[in-house]
Amino acid sequence: MNNITLTNDEKIYWEKIFNSEFIFETECYKTCNSFCCRWDSEDIPLKIIPKGGTLFYLPKEYAYISQYGKVTENNPFIMKAKLFDKEIYLYYKHCNDDNNCNIKFSRSLYCKLYPFLPVFDINGNLNDIKYISVYDVTANIIGQKTPCYVIDLKTKYLKYWQENTEKIQLLKEPYTLFYLMVGNILHDNYVNTLTDNKELMSLTGSIFWKKWEKLYLAGRLVDKLQFQKDIENLYQEMNSKYNFIYTL
Ligand code: SF4
Ligand code: SF4
Repeated sequence: MNNITLTNDEKIYWEKIFNSEFIFETECYKTCNSFCCRWDSEDIPLKIIPKGGTLFYLPKEYAYISQYGKVTENNPFIMKAKLFDKEIYLYYKHCNDDNNCNIKFSRSLYCKLYPFLPVFDINGNLNDIKYISVYDVTANIIGQKTPCYVIDLKTKYLKYWQENTEKIQLLKEPYTLFYLMVGNILHDNYVNTLTDNKELMSLTGSIFWKKWEKLYLAGRLVDKLQFQKDIENLYQEMNSKYNFIYTL
């Protein structure tokens, strides 16, 4: 499915990402039974979405990994968003191979950043970090704690990344920066749509998650028109600042 041809510079870039780490919590999975790769908790009782992690890949990242790393047999799914007369893509795959990812297939940038989404401005300044997984964002809003202790290290990582900018320099490359900024737009759009849904927000526990899952899968927890408008505005800014043209 992936017929993207990477330039030599892109190959070198993705190789660097592939060999980089952004979160340094050695063997943290031992404290939580790989919670973020399993999402198997009675506190998040999902019935339709299969248990396991979801890997997201930027298209060029997937092109690199499929040529030089390891991918699973099945092709990823494609998530699309409209961008003027074209579309932007994000690939995603269900993952239930907890702890086997380095043996069977390559971890994505998304997994390497988990649980944090760096929030950059257009100049590449790191202004904030947010949670990168929709489950964590949601659990946090409804006041539910997960077994992940790293999630509580938000202040530490914000300070660390701000003081050691070389550790996140690779993320400021316009293609990746654009995706991370789209991620932030999606995050905020989702938070606003969710918290505006008073009926859903009045529910608790398993009744909340049951209703949440249906609305989430039906795409009702994102304001798509607003999302499209915001991506297009961002794209125009990226285009004037970096002469950035989105190609797969
Ligand atoms: S990041 Fe959090 S949930 Fe994931 S393995 Fe480490 S401690 Fe567990
Ligand atoms: S690729 Fe690895 S880190 Fe990512 S969800 Fe799967 S098992 Fe977890």
